[in-house]
Amino acid sequence: MELLIIGTGYVGLVTGACFAEMGYRVTCLDVNKEKINLLQAGIIPIYEPGLEEIVRRNTQAKRLTFTTEYQAAVAQAKICILAVDTPVSDSGAADLRSITKAATSIGEHLNDYKIIVNKSTVPVGTAAYVRKVIQAALDKRESALAFDVVSNPEFLKEGSAIADFMRPDRVIIGAESKQAETIMQDLYKPFMLSCERLYFMDIASAELTKYAANAMLANRISFMNWLSQLCEKNGADITEVRKGIGSDKRIGFPFLWAGAGFGGSCFPKDLQALRAIAKAQELDTSLVDAIISINANQKKQLSQKIKNYFENRGGLEGKTIAILGLSFKPDTDDMRQAPSLVLIEELIAAGCMVRLFDPVAMENAKKQLPEAWKASITWCRDEMHAAEKADAIALVTEWKQFRLLDVKQLLKTMSGNAFFDGRNQYNPSEMAKIGCNYISIGRAPSYGVLEHEFEWVTQETADA
Ligand code: NAD
Repeated sequence: MELLIIGTGYVGLVTGACFAEMGYRVTCLDVNKEKINLLQAGIIPIYEPGLEEIVRRNTQAKRLTFTTEYQAAVAQAKICILAVDTPVSDSGAADLRSITKAATSIGEHLNDYKIIVNKSTVPVGTAAYVRKVIQAALDKRESALAFDVVSNPEFLKEGSAIADFMRPDRVIIGAESKQAETIMQDLYKPFMLSCERLYFMDIASAELTKYAANAMLANRISFMNWLSQLCEKNGADITEVRKGIGSDKRIGFPFLWAGAGFGGSCFPKDLQALRAIAKAQELDTSLVDAIISINANQKKQLSQKIKNYFENRGGLEGKTIAILGLSFKPDTDDMRQAPSLVLIEELIAAGCMVRLFDPVAMENAKKQLPEAWKASITWCRDEMHAAEKADAIALVTEWKQFRLLDVKQLLKTMSGNAFFDGRNQYNPSEMAKIGCNYISIGRAPSYGVLEHEFEWVTQETADA
């Protein structure tokens, strides 16, 4: 079966490579010529563990090819999969311009019955909209060709995208014709040999499922981040509370880490889009509003902690802060909405110099940071280089190589001894033992005294 993947980004390239790995003949198409030139030259434009090898193997076997030309690519495909970007517009609503262009191009080149599969994250109603756009292009050609539109949202996670795609928890298919359902079942058959995880449903439910899943996961993170502030004020430890609640089978452990806030290309934009949908339908948005605002606040927690720490130490102006980890999460070079961007902006605005290091996201970070900040930034070779003469270290992304830092050695090269851990990777008392002023998320600092007042009712206060 010939497949066409339209949009060769994080989702499209992984999807194309994994289908090719299963034996399908796949063409990946993108309007970005530079990206396609790189791929045709054997260069992978993104970092995703394991992807390079699969792309190389399948291009060599001629199962995977890259193009910018719609006509031939659409003509030979039986299934066209949309994996284009669906960013958030200024109003917060999903921006479907890439979807519209791709659907128009399909309509212009359709030559027989095909299934158009939407893998991009989109609002309910998009499949019907795609059908309308393709039909309009066909009408212009006075063509009566038949086609089906299917919703097949993607749940892969950057950093583990290959494994997620090859062994999905579930594959959701929203289809309205039996023919489309059967073809989609055949498409995913090789992925379902050991266990059937294919769920067929109506298109609206499939489209909404993706937003619902992301909102639920973001909700867990924001809840833990909110709780982490309560922990700090009350002398509790969020990592202990996590164990206490995660061990309840009804709750479970995943996505219960407090940290520096969530970023990436999905959660922030999908929450905005979900809010925009609910708002347009005059539904209560307070839950989604809270998830979003807690996260925005959490992204400022590290810079606030750094500001507080240096308040009695001569202020932040002129201080040097080493930042370890820039990508929005480990094992990706994706900088979209990364918490590090907020921290860097706040520190530079306060007059700091920042020394930046990330194992793979340095090039993307360089593209994303404004020219005006250049004089305040030093790009570093490694953790040790970043720590040189730094007043403090801020660990923002929990790359595995930051789990066993030689903190004693880092302290020797630093000017100060503060370590701000945005991902709770270290033990506060062990860090204190080696002379570190260690400040993390949702746990008491390794130094100083907790000062707070409890508010509760006792017989004494009730009587008063
Ligand atoms: P991306 O920005 O990395 O890639 C999108 C690609 O589509 C770009 O290369 C762009 O040039 C191309 N494109 C745009 N218009 C086109 C057109 N008319 N024809 C051909 N190509 C076109 O985006 P992504 O991160 O891969 O996300 C794609 C979709 O998948 C989004 O809707 C996203 O929400 C969803 N999604 C993303 C992830 C993730 O982890 N990145 C996971 C699940 C779902």
